[in-house]
Amino acid sequence: MAPPPEVESKHAPPLVECPNCDHMLPQGMGEVECEICGAVCRVTHEPTMEALKGESVQCPHCSTVVIAGTEKRPVELTCSLCSGIFVITKKTVKVEIGCPGCQSRLRIRPRPGKRELRCPSCSNSFNVTF
Ligand SMILES: [Zn+2]
Ligand SMILES: [Zn+2]
Ligand SMILES: [Zn+2]
Repeated sequence: MAPPPEVESKHAPPLVECPNCDHMLPQGMGEVECEICGAVCRVTHEPTMEALKGESVQCPHCSTVVIAGTEKRPVELTCSLCSGIFVITKKTVKVEIGCPGCQSRLRIRPRPGKRELRCPSCSNSFNVTF
C-alpha cells in the first residue's frame, strides 16, 4: 500500500537555545536533549500547543477540513468524511542568513552546532553557529 499523503503543519514551536551552552536546541516540545552538551531541557510553548491542537487541515483525499486535535507531529489522522488516512508532518523551520560577502539572503534549515554554508550567488563560504 502507498504511504498516506502528507500535509505540512502550519505551526512550529519557536527555536530555543540551550540554557546550558547557548546553542540551539533541536526543534520540538517536551523533553528535548541538547545535541551539543547533552543537557535535557523542558520546552513548552502554550500558544504553539494550542495552535497545533486546533489546527485545521484539508483532507488530501476529499478536501474536507479536519481538526488535528493533538499537538503531536507527525500524527496520522483519519478523515471523518471519506475515512482517508493522511499524516500531518512537522513544519520545516527555516531561517534567513545574510551572506557576509554579497548581502544575499540564504534560507536554510537551522541545525544545532557549527556548519559551513556556501553562498549560491558569490560562492563565498562562511560558518554559522546555532
Ligand atoms: Zn546545550
Ligand atoms: Zn477526506
Ligand atoms: Zn554571497
